[in-house]
Amino acid sequence: MVINKINLLKSLNYYQQQAVTIKHSSVLILAGAGSGKTKVLVHRAAWLLNKYKPNNIMMVTFTNKAATELKNKVNQLVGTQYHFPWIGTFHSLAYKILRINYNEARLPNNFQIIDSNDQTKLIKQIISNNNKCLNILPNQILQFINKKKDCGSRPNILSDNIMDCLYKQYQQLCDRNGLVDFNELLLRNYELLNSNHEILNKYHKQFTNILIDEFQDTSYIQYLWICKLITNKNNIMVVGDDDQSIYSWRGAQSNNMQIFLHDYPNTHIIKLEENYRSTNNILQAANSLIQHNNIRLKKILWTKNKNYKEEPIIIYYALDQFDEIKFIIRQIKLIENSGISLNKCAVLYRNNTQSRLLEDILVQQNIPYNIYGNVNFFNRQEIKNVLAYLRLIYNHNDDISYIRIINIPNRRIGKMTINKIKELANTKKISFWHASKLIIKNNILPRRYNNTINNFLSLIRRLYFDICKQPIHSQLNTIMVNTGLLNMYSDKDKIKHLNTVDNLKELLNAAYQFELNFTENKLFLLQSFLTYTNLSINKNHNESLNLMTIHASKGLEFLYVFIIGMEEDNFPSKLSIDINRLEEERRLAYVGITRTVSKLFMTYASTKFIYGKKIYCQPSRFIYEINNSILNVKRIYYYNSNNY
Ligand code: ATP
Ligand code: MG
Repeated sequence: MVINKINLLKSLNYYQQQAVTIKHSSVLILAGAGSGKTKVLVHRAAWLLNKYKPNNIMMVTFTNKAATELKNKVNQLVGTQYHFPWIGTFHSLAYKILRINYNEARLPNNFQIIDSNDQTKLIKQIISNNNKCLNILPNQILQFINKKKDCGSRPNILSDNIMDCLYKQYQQLCDRNGLVDFNELLLRNYELLNSNHEILNKYHKQFTNILIDEFQDTSYIQYLWICKLITNKNNIMVVGDDDQSIYSWRGAQSNNMQIFLHDYPNTHIIKLEENYRSTNNILQAANSLIQHNNIRLKKILWTKNKNYKEEPIIIYYALDQFDEIKFIIRQIKLIENSGISLNKCAVLYRNNTQSRLLEDILVQQNIPYNIYGNVNFFNRQEIKNVLAYLRLIYNHNDDISYIRIINIPNRRIGKMTINKIKELANTKKISFWHASKLIIKNNILPRRYNNTINNFLSLIRRLYFDICKQPIHSQLNTIMVNTGLLNMYSDKDKIKHLNTVDNLKELLNAAYQFELNFTENKLFLLQSFLTYTNLSINKNHNESLNLMTIHASKGLEFLYVFIIGMEEDNFPSKLSIDINRLEEERRLAYVGITRTVSKLFMTYASTKFIYGKKIYCQPSRFIYEINNSILNVKRIYYYNSNNY
């Protein structure tokens, strides 16, 4: 394809143009928030089409939302006829490589991805088989395993350390069940590339250009994986901002840019200093805050942005959480009434739990919203149950799914029977499915119990024949109807006034949409859909208010930003104060503030109810740290109005 080079470069400044067109094989773009790093990557991808095919370009970012935006932006530049199969998150790309090379990666072809909830279930299962480790919490084991994998380590076979033993058992169980956790996606990938030169060579040839966004937050195993893909023949461009490194608690190495420069000493560094996102007032607030950090590669950010009029930063001191939310709702209504779409606004918070109260009121007030991040549509119980059927139908050895639904809807299969299945599976080192078959064959349980298990296995087998030729949304529908789940949830909805059936319908929609947009080899359709449900974020409404943690907001921008819960012990979090991780917490505040294009609100509640107890809160130190005399800050103190 011939890209019109002049047009492509038109919207970029001199330094951005240099970055987009550079011939150097290793480039680091080190620049502050809103300086166009992501824009450069998008234009670079388009520029490269003059010489390479979309298939040659690997572009990696951090969240699903960011990856979708990258794809859309590249397609806006070059046209939608181009499909970029290798733009995605670390996890989704790693998944894809394992999918293609599952055999060489020693995985069954129907391997499935598990999230941290599923991981915890497996760990609990292991704990119950191991009497000696009863005093270790599942979460401690989970963290140990995830951390080890993040560092690229397998359990030490020689060690008799209990954690190593548990890791070993956990991995054996995953392997037996064909299950892959998020960190395993990368570790397995790295090992695959490390051990199989043929595959490594294939990808070296294929990925002539590797582009990485948000590089400051890559973990060690992600870094190793990337390094494996770099050769002296391909080009690598990484972009990042050390002031936005906010994932060290999850394994990101905050000094990875220095490590990169050390490992690739010929790297050319480009700095971008002009900010195009925010008004000057917002930028000064962010600058004055981040200056309180000692460890940083000091960058200067400035703007001549005159797209929006300079607005004061509003700090609202609320009486309590209810008053805080009332204030936000009032502001949101004002914004809406001025004709601005709600999807240009975001409410950001430090912790996921902070969204609940806000959600309740948004529902009451009929204000549509989307939640991004951990609280996931696909994580709802009713959705997970249907998907567990789908998983089990195609992979009988998926123990997590088996246990999840063996008695949903109620089939009178009790704890005793389930324990028997687990016990047998554990001693014989077989899956629950095979253990169940053995129980039936050898009449291990009384006939009544044998029959109920047998009926369950027959249901799953029958479902396979019913659905295997259907499109996915019909498969899901058949499962909901034939298993009795739909009836069960309709009854529940009537009694408890829930809307689970609506969610189930939304799942059918999601599947339908997924199939429509699926452009790859149809053989992978089902597995890809299951992966999507595990890796994907929320359903998307275009005109909704955005709700997310500050962590999830990285790389995004909104005209209006509300950062709520600006209280000591909440933001900065108590843990960060206790373990002296304030600098990372401040970078998080910096990320939050720099999401703002035009107007920033920060709210603080002087009292809160926690577990039914009223507590008094101090305003966050970050409020004072941005309190700079050159800034335009307007403080509003609560007025206790009952109206929204
Ligand atoms: P972050 O650090 O938050 O990820 P970033 O450095 O990736 O930010 P972008 O998201 O690429 O920044 O750009 C921020 C905003 O500035 C976007 O709206 C982008 O379109 C705009 N922008 C970037 N460069 C220019 C330019 N040269 N002219 C006009 N607008 C620009
Ligand atoms: Mg960016």
